[in-house]
Amino acid sequence: MHEVSIVQSILRTLEREFDQEDIERIVQIDLEVGVFSNVEPILLQNAFEAVKTTTGKMKGVRLHIDVKPIKVYCSDCQRESLIEDYRFICHACQKPCTNIVQGAELLIKRVHFED
Ligand SMILES: [Zn+2]
Repeated sequence: MHEVSIVQSILRTLEREFDQEDIERIVQIDLEVGVFSNVEPILLQNAFEAVKTTTGKMKGVRLHIDVKPIKVYCSDCQRESLIEDYRFICHACQKPCTNIVQGAELLIKRVHFED
């Protein structure tokens, strides 16, 4: 399952960035997941629960996922357009545009610790 390896890589990133002491104080992880990132938020949530259960890590930690829509930048119009239904078109000139500036990301936006 693709999502399990994503969760594992998130945990590896956190373990690299923080001391064990801090890791144990994490209560919530905020992720930004682009619509175009090929990740299903619900599958990612399920994978997170599965990894928690199997590894015993991140017990009691919530995963918050912010889904980011796709935005493209048209260099002709120098404008950004929001993409719906995967129609990659500049809203200003109606030309095809695949220069994605948002929506392909998968990143850890914020980690919340208990006081
Ligand atoms: Zn345009």
